[in-house]
Amino acid sequence: MGRPWAGLACALTLHLAWVLANLFRLEWWLRHRNYADPPNAGGVWGEIIAQIVRLHRRKRFHKQRFVQLMRQLQRSTAALPNGVVILNAQREIVWFNRMAAQLLNLRRTADLGMRIENLLREPEFVRYLAGTDYSNPVVIRPMNGEYSHLSLQVAPYGDGQLLLLVSDVSRQMRLEAVRRDFVANASHELRSPLTVISGYLETLGGDPALDPDLEAPVMEMRRQAGRMTAIIRDLIELSRLEEGNEAVVGEPLDVAALTGLLRKDVVARSGHPRDVRVRIDSTARLLGSESEITSAFSNLVDNAAKYTGAEGSLEMHWWTDQEGGHFAVSDTGIGIPPEHIPRLTERFYRVDPGRSRATGGSGLGLAIVKHVLQRHGGTLEVKSRLGEGSTFTCHFPPTRILPMTQAASAATA
Ligand code: ADP
Repeated sequence: MGRPWAGLACALTLHLAWVLANLFRLEWWLRHRNYADPPNAGGVWGEIIAQIVRLHRRKRFHKQRFVQLMRQLQRSTAALPNGVVILNAQREIVWFNRMAAQLLNLRRTADLGMRIENLLREPEFVRYLAGTDYSNPVVIRPMNGEYSHLSLQVAPYGDGQLLLLVSDVSRQMRLEAVRRDFVANASHELRSPLTVISGYLETLGGDPALDPDLEAPVMEMRRQAGRMTAIIRDLIELSRLEEGNEAVVGEPLDVAALTGLLRKDVVARSGHPRDVRVRIDSTARLLGSESEITSAFSNLVDNAAKYTGAEGSLEMHWWTDQEGGHFAVSDTGIGIPPEHIPRLTERFYRVDPGRSRATGGSGLGLAIVKHVLQRHGGTLEVKSRLGEGSTFTCHFPPTRILPMTQAASAATA
């Protein structure tokens, strides 16, 4: 009692030993992860251990939820009727679901980490993947496997990763082919009897002995037969365009010469727009199928003439720039209300059915234009203002444009 310093040192040593013992127990308990049986300690140590136990419980709860979520996600992607493949920024396969394995013949262990282009070598897909426009799916015909047509669509996400969605569209494509064949066959079958009817009506209409009371009905029958012939001709052309899925190679076309011919056709029509202009700002040739491009351009020019009064004007314009080649047909005609513009290229879609029929329109002209452009890698742009006029522009990619010199050497070769 007379030596307070020694007493204090003793007490401190005992306290330090107690602290160290608790520290070792804590360390041993943490190392052995025996969370279910926490050491029994009082005071601040008890508080620390209780905190750790609480933290651990929370972590375990979140981990269980995460595992559950992962399992659910795995089960739902496995049950998806579509294939899903995750690709990294190098286009290597990171993960795929069961359906993707079945559709694309992927093997779970061997194909993980492989570049997708090495496994799916169809040129349409390789081109699609190398591009940047993934807004529409690409349909491929796999070289092997039980599926005749697969639709593939890429959805970019995160940091350069891609989600590849795969679905079997063999049935739709088969139905589409049946529909196409039916329309083509029906049109061909109708063409011969219609030619006979039109021939007789023509002879009848030109007969001077025809009863005057019958003149008007015969005229109307001839007009209607003419319309039917136009519809059948366009239907046959559309099914021919739809048949060839592959892009057209074609030959270098002189757009200036073609436009000159189109101008001649327009001014030969009765009631054509008074002012028919041609603007050629490029000598570059357009690489394409002559018959298809002529058909597309003449449909646009024909429409512009049909829907523009005799007082109006019509202009054809050809120019090229770094984005490719462009052929625009502008008119100062009746124009089109904006809500109709997105649907104009649908078959038989007409803004004013009465007017279209009266002018002898088949309702298929713009559908033909759209198909021709698709086969040439191009697009159609429509700008119009009601009562002021319209501009239909065909845009062709740079690969379709040949400068004059190149076109001349291609022609001599
Ligand atoms: P149609 O044979 O009826 O002209 P299209 O497919 O060529 O069929 O055109 C579809 C519809 O688009 C037309 O019925 C018409 O209403 C509208 N249209 C096309 N071109 C023009 C134009 N230059 N001006 C106004 N309307 C147009």
